[in-house]
Parts: sequence; C-alpha cells; structure tokens
Amino acid sequence: TISMLILDESGNLTGACTTSGAAWKMHGRVGDSPIIGAGLFLDNEVGAAAATGLGEAVIRTAGSAMVVEQMRLGKSPAEACKEIVERIYSKHKNHRDMEYLQVGFIAVNKQGEYGGYSLRSGFNYAVCDDEKGHRMEDAKFKM
Ligand code: ASP
Repeated sequence: TISMLILDESGNLTGACTTSGAAWKMHGRVGDSPIIGAGLFLDNEVGAAAATGLGEAVIRTAGSAMVVEQMRLGKSPAEACKEIVERIYSKHKNHRDMEYLQVGFIAVNKQGEYGGYSLRSGFNYAVCDDEKGHRMEDAKFKM
C-alpha cells in the first residue's frame, strides 16, 4: 500500500491510497484500500489515517476510521495508531495465520502532529514538513 496524508498550509487535510492488494489474492477480492473508513479515513476537524497490511483485518475493525476516532477522543496520532493495532492483535492473536499478520497505520492530526505504529517491525514512512524537509521515520511496533 502507498498512502499519503496531507495537512496543507490552510490547515485542510487530504488523503489518498493505492495498493497492489494481497499476494495470492482470490479473484475479485476487494482489500481495505478502496474502502473509506478501512484503508483510509479523514475528518477535517480531527485528523487523517491510513493503513497497510492485511486488508481483511483492517476492514473488520474499520481501522482508519477508528484511528481518527481515537484522535478525536484525545490520543496523539501515534497513540491512536497503537490502540487500533492492539485491537487488531487482540482479535487475531489466536488466528491460524497470525504468524503472517502485519498491519500498520499512519496518522496526522489537525495540529500537524503525526505518527505510525505497526504490529511487526519493518514499517517506515516518509515525512515532509517546513521544519526539517523530507525524511524517513520508523514506526514503533508491537512485535
Ligand atoms: N492492505 C492491502 C490489501 O490488503 C495490502 C497492502 O498492504 O498493500 O489489499
């Protein structure tokens, strides 16, 4: 998945995402990326979030919408991403495919704070802002 979340100079949020889908997917499978609320969600009063990883797990939890909702309730973007990754983990920890499960979220809020969190290591994201320009950052992770 490639997702982009933008807070522009007027303070408005925009988001987009694209994906090649899951490996060995069934013909006709629809992943999380084209489903607003799952792979991508934003509320211009609160923040924006996007997901990568196993789309079925993200759809099942309305993942990106829930990350934005956690920010509305006062969590930072990184804390909000962590909360929903933990939720997905707790719902899937006994699943037979758990060893293959990876999910991750990025999020930004209206104040320009941002963060990411994933279930497993190896998830990083690019950031660009006026202060420091372009850079890569590693998401924190659970496992
Ligand atoms: N989220 C995508 C899907 O399940 C996979 C990806 O991370 O690219 O379709």
